[in-house]
Amino acid sequence: MALVVQKYGGTSVGTVEKIKAVAKKVIDYHKEGNKMVVVLSAMAGRTDGLIRLARQICSDPDPRELDVLLATGEQESVALFSMAVKDMGLEAQSMLGFQVAIHTDHIFGRAKINQVETERIMKALNDNKIVAIAGFQGLDAYGDITTLGRGGSDTTAVALAAALKADVCEIFKDDVEGVYTTNPEVCPKAKKLEMISYEEMLEMASLGAKVLEIRAVEFAMKYNVPVYVRSTFSDKRGTMVVAETKDMEKVLVSGVAYSKNESRVTIRKVPDRPGVASRIFEPIFESGIVVDMIVQNTSEDGLTDITFTVPKADFYRTMKLVTEVAQEIGAEKVMGDEDIAKVSIVGVGMRTHAGVANRMFAALAAENINIMMISTSEIKISVVIQEKYLELAVRILHKAFGLDDETRTEE
Ligand code: ADP
Ligand code: ASP
Ligand code: MG
Repeated sequence: MALVVQKYGGTSVGTVEKIKAVAKKVIDYHKEGNKMVVVLSAMAGRTDGLIRLARQICSDPDPRELDVLLATGEQESVALFSMAVKDMGLEAQSMLGFQVAIHTDHIFGRAKINQVETERIMKALNDNKIVAIAGFQGLDAYGDITTLGRGGSDTTAVALAAALKADVCEIFKDDVEGVYTTNPEVCPKAKKLEMISYEEMLEMASLGAKVLEIRAVEFAMKYNVPVYVRSTFSDKRGTMVVAETKDMEKVLVSGVAYSKNESRVTIRKVPDRPGVASRIFEPIFESGIVVDMIVQNTSEDGLTDITFTVPKADFYRTMKLVTEVAQEIGAEKVMGDEDIAKVSIVGVGMRTHAGVANRMFAALAAENINIMMISTSEIKISVVIQEKYLELAVRILHKAFGLDDETRTEE
């Protein structure tokens, strides 16, 4: 008998019919002798709808009240799911974050899970019930409802699987059958991976692949939870996210990730003296803006150029902060560019193989795509390019590293 945690996203439970179909599927697993814990998202579009509703009241809703509101999306889906299971003759019990309890810090809207209690779930499982848990929500130390940030139900599922020491955490998707070498929506020749290491999955997620939430992968890696990403609507084999094996290093590049959520800020002719970088970046860090790549050119005349990237949503705020500092320190000017994107190649094989960067740059050069910035780590290389070339760049790199599935044709 296995303890299985399954997570179904918003589209998988998007209608009453789909909720019934998921209930039927879970019942089949239960009948095979598995203890079933099911984490659900809100029905498709519900969370967006609730946010819109809040914004009709005011443009910047109170974060505590917004979390109380958003948590109702998942409350609805777990209740309907449990009714469906019961209607099919089995026992089920829904639980909200605070009932479990899933303890978080008290940052509304992007709370972090600290600890998950297992007693109530274990009791229900031992009573032969199917347990349905509301994803994306928790409880802070003051007894308030918190939410984990958009897409947070993946994290709920993996955190629960870790706490319950589940045999597997299965994440069901509607649009894809697993983790692919790149987003199949952008590159029709993307291949489904049988296996990917936690580390590669973490890089892929951090670099923009939306298939799994970053924090879910972090939990899985920390607690060694085997995560199986697969399709809601078919029994086809999905992708196992697991600890790295020796074989994985044989593959040079496992995937191509991309992000359009980038913008670039350049400060020209900054006096090159100690303390300048700290003056520029301190106000940015203090406002909670996450700076990604930073490049500083060497200077001959005591002046230097500093270029860095921030998320598009923070662009205007960053430009304002930087313009103020630039004046104070006597820099020549500040320039900004929102039409950029980042494309990255990821693979543990890079640790042991040379020439990967060269092949990447050459492939882009052959298509006349200009590289604006480069950053590397042990298992990834990222470049910043003009946004209009992004999809082309993804396809070129996918082909250049032998990832194309030749059995598929371009659509
Ligand atoms: P849900 O939250 O309902 O489970 P998502 O919206 O998170 O589903 O679905 C995953 C999405 O991630 C898909 O629409 C797919 O296009 C996109 N995606 C991006 N990169 C990848 C990748 N490398 N492999 C698979 N899907 C990817
Ligand atoms: N319902 C939440 C959202 O749409 C959480 C989730 O689906 O994972 O972001
Ligand atoms: Mg998701």
